[in-house]
Amino acid sequence: MAWQTETVFREDSYIKECDAEVVAVNDRGGIILDRTIFYATSGGQPGDTGKFVRSDGSEVLIAATVTGESKEEIIHVPSKDAVLPQVGERLSLVIDWPRRYSLMKMHTACHLLSVIYPYPITGAAVAEDDSRVDFDFPDVDYSKEDATARLRELVEANHPVFTRWITEEELAANPGLVKSKNVRPPSGTGRIRLVCIGENAIVDSQPCGGTHVASTGEIGPIHIGKIEKKGRENRRFRIRFGDQPA
Ligand SMILES: [Zn+2]
Repeated sequence: MAWQTETVFREDSYIKECDAEVVAVNDRGGIILDRTIFYATSGGQPGDTGKFVRSDGSEVLIAATVTGESKEEIIHVPSKDAVLPQVGERLSLVIDWPRRYSLMKMHTACHLLSVIYPYPITGAAVAEDDSRVDFDFPDVDYSKEDATARLRELVEANHPVFTRWITEEELAANPGLVKSKNVRPPSGTGRIRLVCIGENAIVDSQPCGGTHVASTGEIGPIHIGKIEKKGRENRRFRIRFGDQPA
């Protein structure tokens, strides 16, 4: 049976600490809670790390967060040698916020890149200091410098980023919302989470379950470090923090 974890990070990705209760510990030592602020690896964004603080002050380090039998079942993977908590125990959850905040900035920057290049995305991976987006790229001019300038323009405009839920029917009526070529948004739950950028989503909106910053200005200095050819049509853009090296 799959557990259903309340995903607090989906409503507010800025919550760094909260309390929760252990509902199960699976046979591999994975900890399942009634609710969590730990994002589980999905959609190219790695899961959170952090710690659980027990009532006696001792800590359970969390090395990874993944989904279980369903997307709603979130499994916290403790570090090796961790003393496991008991079912029914209440814990204080603390995520590794500096790491998560970097991932939120990078993830949002990936959305902006898909606005600059509205081509089919064939893959993406968000990481703390180097993220990549792969596109099926048509025969048009591109350069690191141009991509960086356009990316920074969107960052500096400080557009709001917010989520909105729509029905599967609304999504079916607007197939252009889906940018990814291989990954379809989850269906069957009846509702889809749209991540919107700009007033009235004027910059972009696309289905996504990840965590993002609240405004594009929070991303700060960013640049395209590299553009690699991965086949005749495929181009891999690497996004990095900081100014473009001269
Ligand atoms: Zn996203």
